[in-house]
Amino acid sequence: MTNELERTSGVESRGVSGVIGDHPGRFWIGCSDSPADLFELAKVQNALIHSNPGNLALPSDLSLLATLKMAIDLYNVSEIVICGHYGCRSVEAASEGIRNEIIGDWLSPLKTLAVKSPAVRTASGGTHSTVDTLAEQNVVLQVMNVSRTSIVRDAWASGKTISILGMIFEPTSGRLKLVSEPITSVFLG
Ligand SMILES: [Zn+2]
Repeated sequence: MTNELERTSGVESRGVSGVIGDHPGRFWIGCSDSPADLFELAKVQNALIHSNPGNLALPSDLSLLATLKMAIDLYNVSEIVICGHYGCRSVEAASEGIRNEIIGDWLSPLKTLAVKSPAVRTASGGTHSTVDTLAEQNVVLQVMNVSRTSIVRDAWASGKTISILGMIFEPTSGRLKLVSEPITSVFLG
């Protein structure tokens, strides 16, 4: 069955069919320098969109937390999507240890992840695929960050059904790939 992503955007969403369903109510956390196609995808899904360099979900980011709270309490979203993309300049900058006062500070968690990541550490000169691997690992980390917020945990505890998904957009093919299985209230375990 063709899902809404494919019907409305013409962008093939192989790998997420059946995960992103036809119902509305989605909160999308994306990267500020995402390809335009990706933002179009989010828009046609009528998603509430939050973006920042590196699609980070930091517990210290009041803007993100306020939008997350609004998405859950006012819009009753049932899905939260953290979506990174291949060829991400933010991830590349972090992997190169950017020292810029503002961008470097913002990307600090990504810089830490790059140092810890064996895939990145073993690369000589940082290949494109290495940066893309880091982008995937970052999405997984941000999914965990969102799942640990009191906002989401309180919503789960109150009985709300919310899934948190991690995805990567591949610009050359226009495809979305699931990189983190949906996390639900079972995670409270
Ligand atoms: Zn990016």
